[in-house]
Amino acid sequence: MIEMRYFCPLCETRNRIFLPLKEDALCLNCNGLVLKPSAISEPFKCVLCDYNQFYLTKDFNRGIGLAIFIAGAIASFWTYGISLAVAAVIDALLYKRLAFLKVCYICDTEYKNLPIRKEDKVYDHVIGDLIRSMKEDWHLAKKKLWTQKSA
Ligand SMILES: [Zn+2]
Ligand SMILES: [Zn+2]
Repeated sequence: MIEMRYFCPLCETRNRIFLPLKEDALCLNCNGLVLKPSAISEPFKCVLCDYNQFYLTKDFNRGIGLAIFIAGAIASFWTYGISLAVAAVIDALLYKRLAFLKVCYICDTEYKNLPIRKEDKVYDHVIGDLIRSMKEDWHLAKKKLWTQKSA
């Protein structure tokens, strides 16, 4: 199952759903009808904005990483810095084991468990610059677009 994490275009609340959808997915906060069941297209297109370029990122919980690091830093007063090195190693190991997410360049929706292909890359600033105006346009239009779609 593909996990999709997105910000509601109507109220910006973060939602999490699983694809393919079996029934309409409503936003947790505003209940605005956002997504309808449909088949997953191949090649995959973003469910929210229809764009088909994604970058890879690790599914990293920054809070946990930071907490380990801070604990290591505090303990290093008594361990002469050894705990800090240990914390860094734990963080690195955690990071290595994490799965990749695919993130949409336009609307920042995250997809977990989508197949990763050879041509998939981490964030590319060249692409980021190329699609900047598209991204701005989408964010300006999304509220209107989804209000119409949900009506
Ligand atoms: Zn909403
Ligand atoms: Zn998108």
